[in-house]
Amino acid sequence: MENSCLFCRIVAGEIPATVVHRTATTVAFRDIDPKAPTHVLVIPVAHHANVIELAADPAAAADVLATAAKVAELEGLADGFRVIFNTGEHGGQEVFHVHAHVVGGVPLGPMLARP
Ligand code: AMP
Ligand code: ZN
Repeated sequence: MENSCLFCRIVAGEIPATVVHRTATTVAFRDIDPKAPTHVLVIPVAHHANVIELAADPAAAADVLATAAKVAELEGLADGFRVIFNTGEHGGQEVFHVHAHVVGGVPLGPMLARP
């Protein structure tokens, strides 16, 4: 746990979050500023800064993806959804504890606005 990390503090229960699913190695909770009817963040319990670091821990990476799939099931996203890892400056990453955004609940439109 990193004391200065917002999402480590959510894992520790020091900052409240609306948790929708939890496993031994992951936590899924609602984004505080949802961009779609379903917008859930899936994080590993262990601190990894970004998806590059997560990829170096294949078990944790697999657990994050499995929890993302479980969230899609729990949220009723059978018509489809997106899983997004914003990474680094160009990716617009704001919180440096890796998180998968699981978004859905409406047609999401084109994948990206052209930069
Ligand atoms: P990113 O830009 O990929 O780093 O996304 C960070 C996300 O964390 C944003 O969508 C924020 O709305 C969300 N967020 C920030 N603080 C909290 C919080 N305390 N609880 C839940 N979501 C948060
Ligand atoms: Zn952290």
